[in-house]
Order: sequence, then C-alpha cells, then structure tokens
Amino acid sequence: MKRREFLKKAGTGAAAAVAATTVMAPAVIAKKTYRWKMVTTWPPKLPVLQTGAVRFAKRVEECSGGRLKIKVYAAGELVPAFNTFDAVSQGTVQCGSAASYYWAGKMPASQWFCAVPFGLNADGMSAWLHEGGGLKLWEETYAPFNVIPRPGGSTGVQMGGWFNKKINKISDFKGLKFRIPGLGGKVVAKAGGTVVLTPGGEIFTNLERGVIDATEWVGPLHDLRMGFWQAAKYYYYPGWHEPGSILELSFNKKAYESLPKDLQQIIDAVCGEMEQWTLAQFNAQNGAALQTLIDKHHVNLVQFPKKVMDALRKFSEEVVAEEAAKDKMATKVNNSFQKFRKVIGTWGEVSEKAYYNNIEKPYPLKVKG
Ligand code: CA
Repeated sequence: MKRREFLKKAGTGAAAAVAATTVMAPAVIAKKTYRWKMVTTWPPKLPVLQTGAVRFAKRVEECSGGRLKIKVYAAGELVPAFNTFDAVSQGTVQCGSAASYYWAGKMPASQWFCAVPFGLNADGMSAWLHEGGGLKLWEETYAPFNVIPRPGGSTGVQMGGWFNKKINKISDFKGLKFRIPGLGGKVVAKAGGTVVLTPGGEIFTNLERGVIDATEWVGPLHDLRMGFWQAAKYYYYPGWHEPGSILELSFNKKAYESLPKDLQQIIDAVCGEMEQWTLAQFNAQNGAALQTLIDKHHVNLVQFPKKVMDALRKFSEEVVAEEAAKDKMATKVNNSFQKFRKVIGTWGEVSEKAYYNNIEKPYPLKVKG
C-alpha cells in the first residue's frame, strides 16, 4: 500500500497526521548510530591479525548500513597490548581483538579457547567451540568480567619458533630465554626454559639484543614480515604448542546488550565471516611465505626431533592437568575439551591423518643446502 493511499484510508487531517507519526516513529529510532572503539594486542598493520580487526570493523559498518561504526586502535595506540582485556571489561572501549591465552593470569580456563599443546587443530577447535559446547564455556568463563567472547578465526598450525642454537634433545631448553605464551610456555618452563611474554611489537628487538634467545610467533607469513630470519639461525617446525590457535573478538557485555537485536546479530554474523576469512588467509599465504624465507633469506628450516617432541608431549600432558586443577572453571573446560578431542579423534584418524600419510607430496618442500 502506498503511503498516500494509506493516509487516505487512515483518515484525514489530525487523525492522519497522528497515524503517520506512529507508523514512521520506529524507523527514526532504528537509525541511531553507535560509535565504538576496538583495541587490539597487535602491532599496527600486522597482516591478518590487525588488518583482520580493521576488516571486522569495516564489515560491521557495511552490514549495518553505517549504524555501527567501530574505530580500531592497534596495540599501544590507546592502551598497551596486554591491557586490552581490562579496557573491554571496564567498558573504557566496547570491543577488542586478541588471543585468549594472554589472559591466563586472570583465568586459567581462558587458555583452552586459544591453544592447547598437542591439542585440537583449526578444524577441531571450530567443531568444539560451535558444536561441542566450547563457546558456551568461553562465555561462562568471561561472564564475571562482563565480556562476551567470539572466535575470530584460526591461525592453523603455527611454527615451532626461531632459535640461535639447535634443539637436539629436551635438555637444550634448559636456561633458554624463550618468548612463548600460553600453555606452551608452561611446557617450556617445565623443560627448564625461562619463559618471557612479550607483545608482538617488541619481539624482534629483544631477540636481536639477546634479551631473549628464542621466540615463537605465528607462521611463515607473519614471521617473514617480522624479519626474525635476521636475528635467529634456525626456524623450527611444527608448532606443537599452537596446533590451531583461535583469535579472539571480545565485547563489553553492557555495550553489546545495549545494541538493538539486529546489530547484535550483525556482529555475530561478521565474527562468523571472520573465522572463515582468517583461516583462508593463513592457508593461502603461509606456503609462499615459507618458500620466500627459504629461497630469498636462506633460512635453516629444521624439524624438532621425534625424541624432543615425545618429551614435550609428556610435559604438555602434565601442564594441562596442572592448569586444569587450578580452578573449577578450568577443570570444567578441560573436561569438555578432552572428551570432545576423543570423540572427533576417531574420525580424524581415518580421514585427515590417513589421507596425509598417503598423499604423494604434491607440493614438496624445496629446502636449499
Ligand atoms: Ca604463537
């Protein structure tokens, strides 16, 4: 029905004016524009991580027809990297982009939502979070802090890290000053290493100056960009400590709940889009970056010996059990995680694992020397 016809049928004069006002009012209210701030733990312009946060903000603005605008601040631009969770929790800003294991000191359970050494890969994490109750437990873990978490995508399997000496046996970790966060850091500490947690932007300088002996970061794409090959001799794989790390998008509960339902749903839908986008970026770009590191920068690519991996796995099991015993929430989360891991592992054994063991290396690794 056209507006003119509607007005005719609704009556004339004052009655029509009242009817028109009533009908138009909700549209006026719905046009309210929200302006939010997002803080991240990432250096400015860092591909996929920081650019992903910027992309998230852009997509929310597009999908909401400009009703929700989010200004993104990289680490240190508004608050220091490791203060971003507090900023979101206290409502200083409305949202953040980080990795949940950075908040292990506040809540041990947060570590399971990012990475468990020798735990689930990207597919497994996604399945646990969305279908195995993982996201509900994540929400429960953050609820006392008034923060709502959403997965923002996985890095896939990370690299083992950059070292200036060879790791031939587990005792080579003794006394090693290693930048490695999360549960992986606790495993290294168990192996005798000194664990350092440094925000991304400070790692290179610390490695170059010998403040740290070794570092892990992400994978070839990011490690190439950080220039670690200029400060370390050996590039180890695989990233046993981060087999499919999940990035975190977080929202101040009050700010999120103050939005109309449709804007909340737009946020959730764009978070889902980010999950797909993020993993695709890593899968699409890591291979070429690795080849550049090898061909152009002559990086020594080394695989952790089986004996070292076996020892790390044993320490990992101990660390996970110890961390899980720290509080009730961590116990609950670990129980869910371990149960789910067994359930989907059955399928992984006969699908992905069997497949990878049998393919004819269609893209052989070209290692020089
Ligand atoms: Ca990492």
